[in-house]
Amino acid sequence: MTNLSHISANITQIQNEIAQAAQRAGRDPKEITLVAVTKTYPVQFIREVHKAGLYNVGENRVQEAVPKIETLRDEGTTPPLTWHLIGHLQSNKARLAVQHFDLIHSVDSLKLAKEINRHAVAAEKTQPILVQVNVSGEETKSGIHPGNAVEVIGEILELCPNVPIHGLMTMAPLGTAEAARPTFTGLRNLRDRLAEELKHPGFDPRHLSMGMSNDFRVAIEEGATLVRIGSALFGERNYH
Ligand SMILES: *Cc1c(COP(=O)(O)O)cnc(C)c1O
Repeated sequence: MTNLSHISANITQIQNEIAQAAQRAGRDPKEITLVAVTKTYPVQFIREVHKAGLYNVGENRVQEAVPKIETLRDEGTTPPLTWHLIGHLQSNKARLAVQHFDLIHSVDSLKLAKEINRHAVAAEKTQPILVQVNVSGEETKSGIHPGNAVEVIGEILELCPNVPIHGLMTMAPLGTAEAARPTFTGLRNLRDRLAEELKHPGFDPRHLSMGMSNDFRVAIEEGATLVRIGSALFGERNYH
């Protein structure tokens, strides 16, 4: 487990690497947001992240995240943190997710989008989402099949007016960063194609959420705008 004092040094290091990867790809590093993934880590780690000037935090389980979100909100953390839900979401947790998260990365069905929409309508808000795509096709991964993307996203746009779609998310297969590259390229190509085919005010696919501790450099070279990084900032987790 990383000592607290290492967190800000790790953040600086990762931000430098993000900037270098952006440069290699001829991109502006400002297009890329580092989302600090704090699942399994205590609230004190999130305070360190905030102190270091990072305001985007990712959690993958609603039940674990809500107490952390409430604690920091009650402390009056300013500027406020932006919370990203990155793990699989069950429909019965959609209400809590809508209440607490700014961006839900892991929408993988029309059914879930409809639940999110229902709660967003009730709360008189809009709930931005990303659609998770199983680009690599592994059976163990969540996400819609790329071949169904036009249909599923079209239905979400038609039936879920309070759920604007801000882009796509994917998980690369385990393995080397280079082995992940085709998955990232695939997500970018799919986004570009959908942007052509689906003209709708609720569809603004500005974000590609892809890349984690081991492969974020390659993901940035392939167009990532949101990189989700946990262990490279905080040390190895004990579970998950
Ligand atoms: C845990 C997790 C991450 C971060 O993984 P690290 O390898 O620790 O950087 C990113 N995305 C999702 C969906 C996760 O569950």
